[in-house]
Parts: sequence; structure tokens; C-alpha cells
Amino acid sequence: MNFRDGLVESIGNTPLIKLKKASELTGCTILGKAEFMNPGQSVKDRAALGIIRDAIAKKQIEPGGVIVEGTAGNTGIGLALVAAPFGFKTVIVIPETQSQEKKDMLRLAGATLVEVPAVAYANPNNYVKVSGRLAQEIAKTAPHGAIWANQFDNVANRQAHIDTTGPEIWDQTDGKVDGFVSAVGTGGTFAGVGMALKARNKDVKIALADPLGAALYSYYTTGELKAEGSSITEGIGQGRITANLEDAPVDHAFQITDEEAVPIVFDLLEHEGLCLGGSSGINIAGAIRLAKELGPGHTIVTILCDYGTRYQSKLFNPDFLRSKNLPVPAWLEARADVPN
Ligand code: PMP
Repeated sequence: MNFRDGLVESIGNTPLIKLKKASELTGCTILGKAEFMNPGQSVKDRAALGIIRDAIAKKQIEPGGVIVEGTAGNTGIGLALVAAPFGFKTVIVIPETQSQEKKDMLRLAGATLVEVPAVAYANPNNYVKVSGRLAQEIAKTAPHGAIWANQFDNVANRQAHIDTTGPEIWDQTDGKVDGFVSAVGTGGTFAGVGMALKARNKDVKIALADPLGAALYSYYTTGELKAEGSSITEGIGQGRITANLEDAPVDHAFQITDEEAVPIVFDLLEHEGLCLGGSSGINIAGAIRLAKELGPGHTIVTILCDYGTRYQSKLFNPDFLRSKNLPVPAWLEARADVPN
């Protein structure tokens, strides 16, 4: 018999999928790590499991305890799902601008949702800050403990990628990976995979793909944290150096517009059957840019962060796209079945 023992054992060991058009276009082998195939349909299952395991090991929480987190959605979904077999409860603080599908999934997974306005990190009502205060409040009376997952500055997040995602990519490419490209939300994936690959071969090139509205492209190219513009992508776009990003190896940085990334997502669904969220488009656009810099013949890996059905009301909604002045492929008009 060949089976995984349960949900926890089903996280990770995702396949690498060759992205045909991106590879043909560049003469490189561009591979996507299919993180949407995790049980919670995103890369964040790994961080959620890593953070929960770390808190259990440190005896900060026991069955019946509460996990509190501020999240754009995917971490919360991962936490809520992983919490079930361990017997934890989850309280999730989410910016109200995140997709309805993610909010619905969080409720379905058993999370208590607290929606807050989408305001900058400096504002005390920012979702991350609210979740930190809420965790402190809940901890005062929780008989089995309460933790703040604190994914941005809890390095158990990036450790999950140092321990799993990075080594998986190394093994799956037989150590022949030449470059790795990723966007940053917390920085756990980018820094963790980057560190794991550099530890095995210092010549692997690590590249940041940054959406508009994020400050890291400016930081890694000029030393100044400066953000301009905006993006419809969710879960990425960082304005500060989180603890997870500290000491991250960075060889290249690319700034990617939605106009560059979104058509890649549509093209992959139309021609390769891969249904992905917007951050995957930023990542693949970054992989194409790195391939062009390195030249043909290289193997470049990026992250396919989450599944596209999470964004049917936004990224795959013609009206939403038009409201953002983004082009709408003709086939999408016919296919879109937009929930209201
Ligand atoms: N893409 C999506 C859709 C996400 O939700 C996240 C996590 N916020 C990321 C990418 C980035 O992952 P990380 O937090 O590891 O930087």
C-alpha cells in the first residue's frame, strides 16, 4: 500500500512542472514548483505546519489552544486545516480587500474571521498589528494557550522552506538548478529556498520578482525602501525587511507589472491547463526575465503559489479586470462564471 498518513504528511513533496511556453520562449527549462497541489492549495501550508510544529515543540500551545494570525488568506487556510488534526482553534485577521473565495474557505475550514480595512503596516489598525494585539488578549484567558503565528517575523516560516521546499527543488533537479525566482509576501519562501539552494551551490542565482506597490525591488537595487503603483495580485508585495527576509541571498531583482504577469496566468490556463493565482504570474514573469539574463540552456525554478479558483471573482472576472484597465481575453468572457 502507498499512502500518506494524514493531512500533515500530505503537505509538501509537490511536483515540478515544466512551463512549456516560457521554456520555448527563452531556450531555458523553466520549472514551476506546484505548491497549489498542497492540501490547502497554496505554498503557505508549509509555513503553517512549520509554525505550528515550532510552537508545539516550544510548549507554547496544547490541544484546545488558539492560533491567531493576520493573513492575506492562504496562511490562514493552511493554519485552519493543520489546526484540525492537532485540535487547535484558529482566529484569522484578514484585510477586507482579499478575495471572497479565500474568506469563504477560511470559514469553511473553521476559522473565526476578523475583517479589517486594508491599511499600511505603519497604521495601528493594520491586519498584522491587530492580530498581534488580539493574540495577547486571547492568551490572557485561553486555558490551553494561544499563540500569534506572526508569519512575517517568525523564522519558523522560512525554516519550513529551508527544510522542505529548497531541498525538494535541489533533489528534483538533480542539483542542476541554475536559478530560483520568487515574489515575497513574508519572504519565507524566497529566503528559505534561496538559503537552502545557496548552501548546496553558491552559484545558483536567486532572483526577486516584485509587483508594483512593493518596496523590495527598490531596496535591493538602490538600498532604499520605496514603493510606487499597485497590483491586483494578492499575498505578495512587501514594504519592509521582515525577520524572514534578513540575510536572504539576492543576486537579481525584477519589477513586474500586472500587464506583464496577468497575461501569463491566462495563457497558462488556456494552453497548458494550469489554473493559477496572480502571484504565480509575477513569479513566472520573473523566471522569464532571469532566463533572458542567464541565456539559453539554463534550468530555472519558480513557485506556482496557489490555485486560481481562489480568484474567480477578481483575476478571472472580466468586469474586475476592466475596472483595473487590464486586458480581458475573449475566451474568459465566455468561461467566467462570476459569483456575486
Ligand atoms: N503567493 C500567494 C498567493 C501568497 O498567499 C503568498 C503568501 N502570503 C505568497 C505568494 C508569498 O509567500 P511568502 O509569504 O512565503 O513570501
